[in-house]
Amino acid sequence: MKLESAAPAAVVESIAAIGRFAAARGWVPATSGNFSCRIDGRSVAVTRSGVDKGNLGPEQVAALDLDGPIPAGMSAETPLHIERYRADASVGAVVHVHTVASTVLSRLHAPDGVLNLSGFEMHKALRGITTHETDVALPIFANAQDTVALAAEVEARLGRAPAVPGYLLAGHGLYAWGRTMDEARRHLEGIEFLLECTLEERRLHR
Ligand SMILES: [Zn+2]
Repeated sequence: MKLESAAPAAVVESIAAIGRFAAARGWVPATSGNFSCRIDGRSVAVTRSGVDKGNLGPEQVAALDLDGPIPAGMSAETPLHIERYRADASVGAVVHVHTVASTVLSRLHAPDGVLNLSGFEMHKALRGITTHETDVALPIFANAQDTVALAAEVEARLGRAPAVPGYLLAGHGLYAWGRTMDEARRHLEGIEFLLECTLEERRLHR
């Protein structure tokens, strides 16, 4: 059985574009982070392990069968992408970054298992939220190197209709997703903005 094939050019370009976007902001340092995009009902394109996310091309992106084994050369975090698509047919793109704000705040709040955000106008960047008068509860999971088990834990907690299109891995970073790559990018940028504001408030001891 063939484990992987070339991803369509348009899908590769959408992944390359979000890679450039994240790299320009310093969100994927030292080849960290990974990005994926649904190709069809059965397959997704995912960035390979250890590549510069600011300079992605066809050689750095693999097309994987959602029901097949993960081939060599893929990121250890690939199961966290694959299981999001398997759990929710509406998920069209999954994005993951290692930002300072997500790394620091997820460590601080890891014992709570959640980071509660309230009162921000930016909440409206998240699909379905229409007012700042909404409490956003961003789940936090303990980091783990067994990402198959971690992906199962994540999906069990998120359930069928996650209230927020993202979560934190403690001391690690932020995952977000959307129906399209554009929506995933909006969710990523919105959540990261909320995290940066919250971190700034902590610095001011509020
Ligand atoms: Zn990571």
